[in-house]
Amino acid sequence: MHDESNPADAWGLDTRAIRAGHRRTGEQEHGEPIFPTSSFVYESAAEAARKFGGKEPGNIYSRFTNPTVRTFEQRLAALEGGERCVATSSGMSAILATALALLSAGDEIVASRSLFGTTVSLFDKYLSKLGITTRYVELSNLEAWEAAVTPATRLMFAETPSNPLSEVVDIAALAEIARRHEAWLAIDNCFLTPALQQPLALGADLVIHSATKYLDGQGRAVGGAVVGPDTLLEEMYGVVRTCGPCLSPFNAWIFTKGLETLGLRMQAHCANARQLAEWLEAHPAVERVHYSGLASHPQHALAARQQRDFGAVLGVEVKGGREGAWSVIDATRLLSITGNLGDVKSTITHPGTTTHGRLSDDQKAAAGIREGLIRVAVGLEDLADIQADLSRGLDALVR
Ligand SMILES: *Cc1c(COP(=O)(O)O)cnc(C)c1O
Repeated sequence: MHDESNPADAWGLDTRAIRAGHRRTGEQEHGEPIFPTSSFVYESAAEAARKFGGKEPGNIYSRFTNPTVRTFEQRLAALEGGERCVATSSGMSAILATALALLSAGDEIVASRSLFGTTVSLFDKYLSKLGITTRYVELSNLEAWEAAVTPATRLMFAETPSNPLSEVVDIAALAEIARRHEAWLAIDNCFLTPALQQPLALGADLVIHSATKYLDGQGRAVGGAVVGPDTLLEEMYGVVRTCGPCLSPFNAWIFTKGLETLGLRMQAHCANARQLAEWLEAHPAVERVHYSGLASHPQHALAARQQRDFGAVLGVEVKGGREGAWSVIDATRLLSITGNLGDVKSTITHPGTTTHGRLSDDQKAAAGIREGLIRVAVGLEDLADIQADLSRGLDALVR
């Protein structure tokens, strides 16, 4: 029988992205089917009892067993090199499920300061209510991580490279600190995806995804996932089953098809981003480009060692402070002015007044979010058109 649900470890990444996780039904379909059903039926009362009792595998109810969702989970697990994946309704619920599964009152998280803003809100506003406290440290400073860990630390949490300044942490070194202190290390791998970075292979315990970004890649659906060892993922599965932040089969299908082109898309994103970064760095209206793929980036060597490529999110500081940055954004006609990223469509935003707008001036200064900073998430349009769109505002700044 044709069964691609357990890919040979020997498969390359693109083969896994295209083939893993699909078990053909009796209809002999070539593409992955969608099962838009809330529940499943049994041949007999005895079969129902066995399935409910966990004595026999099989589908029960789509909050926790749906074949379309399972295909996405198995495909992503294969890509990240993890034993198991649990899909969730969003990236945020993937992080919430991780916290609920692993932490109790009195436990501590040590996290990088440069996290996705809503992750910080989740930790500070909601997990704090459950008696879980979070300390923040500078992402790349390993001594700061070490110093922030206490006997109560159970989870270390980082995004690398960071948004929007492209800072990088040595994942293997961080994993070593986590191991020594018997804490789990979770890496939010949203910005690079398994096509460019596999944190589990570097020693992380868990990988977290907002599938909303590059895994879909075309801005069509919201979803998330956690990948890691079966023992930990069984706990996440329990949280999703009980608390209910499950992924819909429709969205799971979109992500499954999105993964098929992940390798190609990430290559193309990176190629566009690298050329745009070099071009921007040479532009007289640009003071600095933050991108780990540039030789000028302080952690370029580490990024080159730990990542297969450098991703497609650029921090660009332009002349003229906020006024200068806003004028460049407002002069665009092609790029989408939006906080989203991970899309074939390029997006542009002013972090200081949008994604990082809730930070105080001191917090912005500490995070390196200057008034003249623009974030460009480079899509797959023709490079010349992206350049022309940015030139309009940039050229005006130095005219
Ligand atoms: C978008 C994002 C999230 C949250 O994901 P949602 O799918 O929007 O809930 C988490 N982490 C990072 C790095 C993100 O970019």
